[in-house]
Amino acid sequence: MQAGLTIALSKGRIFRDSLPLLAEAGVVPLDDPEKSRKLILRTNRPDVSLVVIRAADVPTYVEYGAADLGVAGKDVLMEHEGDGLYEPLDLQIARCRMMVAGRAGEEGAHPRRLRVATKYVRTARAFYAERGVQAEVIKLYGSMELAPLVGLADRIVDLVDTGNTLRANGLVPMDLIAPISSRLVVNKASMKMKHAAVKALTADLAAAVARRARGEGG
Ligand code: AMP
Repeated sequence: MQAGLTIALSKGRIFRDSLPLLAEAGVVPLDDPEKSRKLILRTNRPDVSLVVIRAADVPTYVEYGAADLGVAGKDVLMEHEGDGLYEPLDLQIARCRMMVAGRAGEEGAHPRRLRVATKYVRTARAFYAERGVQAEVIKLYGSMELAPLVGLADRIVDLVDTGNTLRANGLVPMDLIAPISSRLVVNKASMKMKHAAVKALTADLAAAVARRARGEGG
């Protein structure tokens, strides 16, 4: 780990929503991440750089100290195994819900052994295990909504925002598993070794989040 701070972010929604918060904390990338092919972005602060990686890889980079901090969705954190991370701040961005969904009209139907298709295998298993429901969880990498339509699964577990994707495929939300938002995560060693810098950045981000919650700025 080098001196200075490295922050891991993923492209897309999390990057777009994190940028204004980072800017309020005084960190602005010098290149546009949506245009640049660079994976390491310098910022206006010589001591802070950003690494742009796949969302599901953010906890791994931070856990191993390849990045000191990161922004990761709660959905990704719930799937991540390992406990090498602190999660000091809910950034309240990229909000949505982790839900069980299925075909409309089948809300009450409970096959003896439920087949559940999802990218979120760990979360789905834990959800059904807690309820004592026998569920066979089938791992998919995308387009989960298709699974109930072609008879691959009785249910899906996926992120729902507006509900438009479910509706467009004749599916309905059934159970809420967890509200989701992006969290700031911190490497445990960085929290000790770079305490002042990590604490200052976390406090600045927390202040930006609070200002937003009060309807000021952002
Ligand atoms: P919607 O149609 O608005 O309910 O959005 C659902 C689709 O967008 C699903 O395919 C989700 O995987 C994806 N989605 C919604 N919210 C998020 C989020 N906060 N982060 C990542 N993916 C999301």
